[in-house]
Amino acid sequence: MVSEFQTPISADAVKAKAREFGADLVGIADGMELEANPPGGGDERRPSDITDYDAGKVIVIAKKLTAGTTRIQRWDERHKYYNDELTLTALEETSLDMVYWLEENGYPAIVIPPTHLDPWRYQNDPGEHLDTLLSLSHAAVEAGLGTLGLNLQLLTPEYGPRVMVSAVLASFDCETDGRQTDALCKGPECGRCLKSCPGDVIGHWERDWPGCDRYRSPHGFAQLTEHLGNIFDAPNLDERLQMLRSEESFNLWQSILRGAGVVTGCRRCQDVCPVGDDYAMLADALEEIPEATPEKEARLAEMLGEPKPESYTAHARWIGKEPS
Ligand code: SF4
Ligand code: SF4
Repeated sequence: MVSEFQTPISADAVKAKAREFGADLVGIADGMELEANPPGGGDERRPSDITDYDAGKVIVIAKKLTAGTTRIQRWDERHKYYNDELTLTALEETSLDMVYWLEENGYPAIVIPPTHLDPWRYQNDPGEHLDTLLSLSHAAVEAGLGTLGLNLQLLTPEYGPRVMVSAVLASFDCETDGRQTDALCKGPECGRCLKSCPGDVIGHWERDWPGCDRYRSPHGFAQLTEHLGNIFDAPNLDERLQMLRSEESFNLWQSILRGAGVVTGCRRCQDVCPVGDDYAMLADALEEIPEATPEKEARLAEMLGEPKPESYTAHARWIGKEPS
């Protein structure tokens, strides 16, 4: 019996361990809640798609992004990509430490990292949007870490959307955290995420995910296949060699080497969001939004008069109740 090897562990002990291993935020969701409420509108992802045995609890771990890079205004600044990649590495190490600790206590566990996309869903189309095996933003809400915003990004009271999130699945007995019921997002009245978005891919409680991927992963698989295709199609050897030695090739190579610019990229919507205690440290550098246009302002004003769209209803559980 596996249970003979198991040491009882409390929610407080799990959270203290995660913090000791480097987590900035941690919450525990009941796996059954995620099982009963999968997000996705026809493309649901549940813990049982990953394991039949070890997803009784979903421990959601967040690591904050560095403030110095957040204060850099340009979205396509490689310092941001690299620093975020380092944050990601730290988050992965914290998650793996948690897995080994849980297993020492007799509970087999699995990391769901934010960068592992579901390979079985890939349909030979590099431009298609692929998701993680479990929606980590939704899991974070179920674990009490925050609520979703206008572009469906996770907002936390401590760091707004300026966090990276992973999950650890394991089955053990302990108390779980409840969802925050009040929305943290200030809605279209704020709209700073929409105004700042370089791809203009943010809608009314929705986001054009494939459009966003071009920015979130600026040197990713879609760009790699595109660049290689352009090299093949170049009319002569000289042009082919020139393209091979170009800055685009250099950026792709650097990104393959480290993941910076592939698993990290644009996060302008996260930077400018005023939610989060940490925003006080950022506001002077981010208050002004050069990407704002009269068209974007007009769209936000329209949203205020419109009924809530379908995407809002589909995500209402995780967006939370707006102040009346
Ligand atoms: S990550 Fe960048 S492109 Fe995507 S929604 Fe945010 S600001 Fe827009
Ligand atoms: S920037 Fe404003 S509208 Fe966008 S998620 Fe944050 S609070 Fe909501």
